[in-house]
Amino acid sequence: MTDTALQSLLGKLTDALGGRAALEGAAVERTIATGWRRHPGWGTDPAKPELVAEFSATLDLDVVGPRYRWAHRAKTYLVPTDLDYVEVGAGGRGHVSGVDFMFDPRPVDLDIPSWRVAARLRHFDLTSPLRLVRRMLAPGADVTAGPGDVLTLREFGRPPVRVTLDAATGLPRHADLTEEHSPLGDAAVRITFDDFHDVSGVRVPFQVDITVDGQHVHSETRTEASISASASEELFAVSGEIVEPTLEQAAYALNSTEWVMNYVYSGVRFYFDLQTAPVTPEPVDLAPGVKLVIGPSHNTMVVELPDRLLAVESPLYDDYSRAALAQVKRAFPGKPLRELVCTHFHYDHVGGVREFAADGDLTVHVGTPAVEFFERALSAPHHVDPDRLASGPVRTSVRGVAESLSFETAGGGTVTAYRIVSDHADDMMIVHVSSGGLVFNSDLWNPTPGLPESGDQRGRLATQLYDAIQALGLDVTTVVGGHRGSDGKTSAHAAPIEYLKRAAGY
Ligand SMILES: [Zn+2]
Repeated sequence: MTDTALQSLLGKLTDALGGRAALEGAAVERTIATGWRRHPGWGTDPAKPELVAEFSATLDLDVVGPRYRWAHRAKTYLVPTDLDYVEVGAGGRGHVSGVDFMFDPRPVDLDIPSWRVAARLRHFDLTSPLRLVRRMLAPGADVTAGPGDVLTLREFGRPPVRVTLDAATGLPRHADLTEEHSPLGDAAVRITFDDFHDVSGVRVPFQVDITVDGQHVHSETRTEASISASASEELFAVSGEIVEPTLEQAAYALNSTEWVMNYVYSGVRFYFDLQTAPVTPEPVDLAPGVKLVIGPSHNTMVVELPDRLLAVESPLYDDYSRAALAQVKRAFPGKPLRELVCTHFHYDHVGGVREFAADGDLTVHVGTPAVEFFERALSAPHHVDPDRLASGPVRTSVRGVAESLSFETAGGGTVTAYRIVSDHADDMMIVHVSSGGLVFNSDLWNPTPGLPESGDQRGRLATQLYDAIQALGLDVTTVVGGHRGSDGKTSAHAAPIEYLKRAAGY
């Protein structure tokens, strides 16, 4: 399309939103909204996004500069918690005060890293037509028009955004982009704007919805909006040190924004932390021939077989799992990793599956209901943020476990994956290692440093784990966690079976 066509389409959008003078006169956009978020990578089945939070929020957003103030209250559902916090971001600095973490609902008052601020700002860019149009009108902006009533904004280091205008009104109907959503790769993100109202001469959408690969993950209804002609410095005041990101952390914030937001709205902080290495330099011993790689939030168990290694769990994302995989390989030198057991499909437990598969000849064992999901993850395009597997496809296979699957270990015992019935996920498996009497589980019960209170569990998950161990007749002395449990002071990656029994309420 010609320059004239671009000017005409950009003019149509500008006029529809209130005209250039009104847009340039708007300094701060305040919106008050209620809504919900669903997480596509949690829940019982990959086809059903899980409701993770219902929220109400007040946002003060600098229409041009990198500044926001976000007051957030939410009910979370994975762990029922009332979040209530205020987060302020300005440039590379940020601060949060209040309850922002569902696993530990004690109020915090702390600086947040620059990549958390960057991910938030990118989310606000995508959900505020005022911010989008101001970026398009900025001197030197790379904007192209067409085909049809579409304007594409290209910015360095972030996926291009295609804004489709309503042919009749010129208002933005939706914004489309492709992000990287681990482990599935390229994900089609669509933000839909509706119910525009005139607010101080500019038009603001009162309904904003987001879909990812066609799944409805976010709905936000704005009940009030106002525009200020000047920014109060006090509103965005934030002191403290700037925590600089690594390249990976910076890229995650901008390439995977809505993926990060799934976790943020859920009330978990670990994806904002974006840790990229295990917390101990080498894996810890669990029993002869069995070790555990301790991650910042998620662990990987390694079992030595006669001629190869078996790993349980490939958590988080490729930048973390690369470091975890190095520890897996070093755990028992000379033996290649050939078997991977995934306890369930939840994204945070399988985000490294492609990195684990990239060396080739890996068989991934999963509960039968999740076979299709894992095949998709291992073959899906990753153009936005290519990983090691994208650069060189290798032989990998996915096998479904209907009931159980057993391997002989190097010490002459067995390691067996069992499907169990759980409210947490339909494909759930636990892994039993006969020597040492170990059982590994993820998300059903996190081992605690001390004896828990009777019945202290999430829903019925600990009871379901304990009942399954009994029903299968497993000889278990120690329960190992995909997550560590904590009493607020210390944490544990393994605990006696009696602790689980107590948490289960027996
Ligand atoms: Zn889970």
